[in-house]
Amino acid sequence: MLETILSTESIRKSFGAHCVLDGVSLSVRKGEIVGLLGPNGSGKSTLLNILSGFTPSDGGAVNVDGHDVTGLPPHAIARLGLVRTFQLPSMPHRMTVREVLQAGCRREAGLGGALRRWRYDAEVARLLDQFLLTRVQDQPASALSGGQKKLLSIATVLRSRPKLLCLDEPTAGVHPNLRSRMVELLKEVNAQGVTILVVEHDMEFIRELCGRCVVLDRGALIADCAPRELVENPRVVEAYLGK
Ligand code: ADP
Ligand code: MG
Repeated sequence: MLETILSTESIRKSFGAHCVLDGVSLSVRKGEIVGLLGPNGSGKSTLLNILSGFTPSDGGAVNVDGHDVTGLPPHAIARLGLVRTFQLPSMPHRMTVREVLQAGCRREAGLGGALRRWRYDAEVARLLDQFLLTRVQDQPASALSGGQKKLLSIATVLRSRPKLLCLDEPTAGVHPNLRSRMVELLKEVNAQGVTILVVEHDMEFIRELCGRCVVLDRGALIADCAPRELVENPRVVEAYLGK
């Protein structure tokens, strides 16, 4: 039995009178790649925002790798191993791709500082290479294509060596050629020991990447099954196609 890396218990969230999450309980085991699906507006991004500390919930609990992270700020949750990317990655205007990846590394005097810097730079070079960004490393990050921005935002959060990577629509607006490369990249990242929870609409992407899917509809979890079982699940069919 694999260890649980993420569990939520009865997460609730309303915006005004609008109930967006109505008691969502799910769990993800170490090493899994889980797809988080659901029609537009079903609460997927809100759930990721709550898991990662960007939005407070109205109730319920989130546990990451054995730690109760309910109510903690994003940086504290990231330190415990959960990082996330956004549906629309925003890039700073005056920084190059390499600078975005290097941000946060302090310059320190002395041999210890130099060695840390050297190890850090090696890691940045590895990530640039893995995410196909070496060629554009000196270009402004804001000038990248939609797909390259998605790759850079994933590379950036991987720098902290997370245990759990949450992705919000990584292939939206991404060229189809890059989409299949993205599947390979995420499998590589997973093989390096990172568990993945991914919000995505592209079913081919989901089928190739995910071992399991959970489906949200109007704030409630309606399915938890293998990707190939989705089309036979009456509740999923109803959520997407109506009765
Ligand atoms: P999904 O990612 O599944 O498309 P979201 O989680 O973004 O859905 O949104 C779920 C619902 O919550 C939508 O109806 C959306 O309009 C609403 N919502 C999301 N964020 C806010 C907010 N900050 N204020 C008010 N309503 C919001
Ligand atoms: Mg969304």
